[in-house]
Amino acid sequence: MTERIFDADSHAAVFEAKVLSCQPQDGRFAVILDRTAFFPLGGGQQPDTGTLNTAHVLDVRETQRVITHFTDTPLQPGIRVQGAVDWPQRFRRMQNHTGEHIVSGLIHKLYGLENVGFHMGSTDVTIDFSGELTRAQLNEVESLANEAVWRNVAVTTWYPDPQKLAGISYRSKLELTENVRIVTIEGYDDCACCAPHVARTGEIGIIKLLDFIRYKGGIRVHMLCGADALDDYRCKFENVRSISNALSVQQSDAAKAVQNLNAQLADIQHKLTAMGRAWARELAAHMQAKNGIILFFSASMDTDALREFVNSCLNQCQLCAAFSGCDAQGWNYIAASTTIDLRTLANSLNEGIDGKGGGNARMLQGRASATQLKIQNYFSTYTL
Ligand SMILES: [Zn+2]
Repeated sequence: MTERIFDADSHAAVFEAKVLSCQPQDGRFAVILDRTAFFPLGGGQQPDTGTLNTAHVLDVRETQRVITHFTDTPLQPGIRVQGAVDWPQRFRRMQNHTGEHIVSGLIHKLYGLENVGFHMGSTDVTIDFSGELTRAQLNEVESLANEAVWRNVAVTTWYPDPQKLAGISYRSKLELTENVRIVTIEGYDDCACCAPHVARTGEIGIIKLLDFIRYKGGIRVHMLCGADALDDYRCKFENVRSISNALSVQQSDAAKAVQNLNAQLADIQHKLTAMGRAWARELAAHMQAKNGIILFFSASMDTDALREFVNSCLNQCQLCAAFSGCDAQGWNYIAASTTIDLRTLANSLNEGIDGKGGGNARMLQGRASATQLKIQNYFSTYTL
């Protein structure tokens, strides 16, 4: 059994210990110490990383109360080592984890919902609850949770004896029957939990509920606390500042300004499409068929206008083939006819213009990579 330093002192980032064993395993070294401040993987929380002397601790796992550190270099059994937990990472996790207790405790007290899932990911923390809540209710929870931070109440851990345990009401994430470690945030939460937490709620700094979705009959709440919430604020502030500068509006009006811009863009696109079609009809009116065929090339006509052009040509020819936008990717093409079943033409057409595409009896559409000259030669030899 490994002595768990983080149980009694969550702020012990540096410690001394004796190496009990070190075994090579899958390209790494499995190191067992007599005591450790490294918290192992578990309860929705990633394991601590850090160093043991100069060896890097890459992973930490626990099996039957024995904690194994996986390192990149070996350590001699019997020696004493200096351990150092990556403290900024650990502290962020303690901030998020303790914030989660406060939020879950409040939601349990106010609305009777259980925390049924917890995950501390690389971008945010998620908590799953057993029932649904509205955004207004979550806003209230967020306000009360931050009040708990400002009150700076103590976070204590204790192991009640079975009799005492039977008499207290607590949230339980684990199905434990003995050595139940209760984490108490006075006035807010009692919960069975084995992870490290901050010593007083003021250390959390801030609790921000980000968003929520319906999930498995309840809701999944996304949340960030402390340093992670500050990083998130910085990122979002820079985004809003860039948008407000680019659009010359107050930051508080940025979202509305983007909505207006999108509406203007949709209006312009609508007008541009109408103009493109009118231009295509005008061009079509001046085309002349050669041997019953109209062949047309454009550098930049979009697909909508190209289709309008081809359809507008059909009363002047038996076959119209239009190509647009020759670039590294080749041409977009549309071929149409009111007199020929184009399904019989598709294979030879695609072969003749180095193309890929298909359609129905009246219209073919696809891509072609042949040069304009090669396409012109193909159609000049084509007889209807
Ligand atoms: Zn906890």
